Amino acid sequence: MDYVSERKRLVDNLVSEGYLETQSVIDAMLKIPRERFVPEAMRNSAYADCPLPIGEGQTISAPHMVAIMTEKLQLGENHVVLEVGSGSGYQAAVLAEIAKHGFIYTIERVPTLVEYARNNLRFCGIRNVEIVPSDGTLGYSKKAPYDRIIVTAAAPKIPKALVSQLKEDGLLLIPVGNRFLQTLVEVRKEKGKVFEKNHGGCVFVPLIGEDGWN
Ligand code: SAH
Repeated sequence: MDYVSERKRLVDNLVSEGYLETQSVIDAMLKIPRERFVPEAMRNSAYADCPLPIGEGQTISAPHMVAIMTEKLQLGENHVVLEVGSGSGYQAAVLAEIAKHGFIYTIERVPTLVEYARNNLRFCGIRNVEIVPSDGTLGYSKKAPYDRIIVTAAAPKIPKALVSQLKEDGLLLIPVGNRFLQTLVEVRKEKGKVFEKNHGGCVFVPLIGEDGWN
């Protein structure tokens, strides 16, 4: 299978469907080999626009969802980012490609996925990502505050720690709702005040932790 042309076809579709428009996001999705972030038996499905199982009952998000979230994040080259829910490491790889002079801290609670994501990122030669094995509902205060925070699991409410670890003028994206359907919520911090904006429906696996689901 010719993964490079499959990837190009997928990205072209995401552009014509209106999910992708920013050149740096398009370039990152053209560069990162999604087939390396799914189990070997599933590589030939890597460029279908759907989520795929990555073990432990978890999934790599559908490419259009990665496109939507990465576009809405308005990421800069020097940004320091916190991701909650490393999963396969694919979203972190896309972020790392755009924030090439910045750094991505990504938290994962399932130990086998911590290893899986680490290996996938290492294989792709991505160096500006650190996978932190812990409960992301509490954030990662050691490297806070963050320019951007992205949560790729479904939260019952916005964890307080994440808002407090966001920089002034920072932006947080998080799916909030019940276990079956959520709304993608954008949180902005301006002059110490917090503003929320809704970006429509989405479906993610649950965010499990102290300030998430049990
Ligand atoms: N961004 C991932 C997909 C995320 S799937 C990718 O690109 O592949 C959601 C992930 O969130 C799962 O791996 C799940 O184990 C993890 N997760 C759920 N609750 C968490 C928590 N409290 N802290 C960190 N990770 C969590």
